Amino acid sequence: MFTFRKLTILFFILLFALNVIHFLGCKLEWFSGHLCSQTYVYMVVLFGLYIGISITMAFFISSNYHHKAICKGVTTEKLCALTFDDGPDPENTPAILRILNRERIPATFFVIGAKLNGNESILREMDAEGHLVGNHSWSHSIWFDFLPARRIRRELTRTAKAVSEITGKSPLLFRPPYGVINPMLSNALRSLAYHVIGWNIRSYDTVHRDPEKTVTKILRKLSPGSIILLHDHLADSPKLLERVIDQLRLHGYQIVPITQLTHIEAYA
Ligand SMILES: [Zn+2]
Repeated sequence: MFTFRKLTILFFILLFALNVIHFLGCKLEWFSGHLCSQTYVYMVVLFGLYIGISITMAFFISSNYHHKAICKGVTTEKLCALTFDDGPDPENTPAILRILNRERIPATFFVIGAKLNGNESILREMDAEGHLVGNHSWSHSIWFDFLPARRIRRELTRTAKAVSEITGKSPLLFRPPYGVINPMLSNALRSLAYHVIGWNIRSYDTVHRDPEKTVTKILRKLSPGSIILLHDHLADSPKLLERVIDQLRLHGYQIVPITQLTHIEAYA
């Protein structure tokens, strides 16, 4: 697998090789003067490639480039899992829960720690109804991906503690805010026991507000083991959920807990 660690090793090997070539070419004049003067250019290009690839791959959670993430279940059966990010929301999350409970469908909610204050009863209901609660950071700040590992670790621990105080369960599932995984987050996760949960279907429900278009997009990517990313804090979320459930059933899919789909534990 192509990972940040492997690319870093390759980068330093090539950097060393370029330095050797530079030394042999410039000091010992083994090569033409042209090659000697060009080695600095190659070093800059190499560094640019290394940084460019590493930044780009941070946005592709399923690449497992910076850290391993579970983005799909391994199954040939028509099973899928629903996940909701960015709640709990005092208005829309209860509506989502009503639909899920009415349809007897399990889901996973990746909650933002800072939103738990005042919404404890929603979290208790989620848990009591058999839904799973995962960690989605404390602040979900736009600066989250610039935080040092120590601060990220504190965010995750703080949310886990808050969830644990409300439900009595400490989450083991973590979804990175914005789906971005960089070396700082990977470093923070190394000392924690989280399963990083990604998705293979991003609904883009925060961008496209037409539920029909969103459902079409989901169906286009639907396959056995799919993990579908939705949000529970939007006004359109309940309406979209009803359409998603209808269409998944129409296509013969059963919605199961993410733990059943991926064979992992949700709580410590
Ligand atoms: Zn989010």
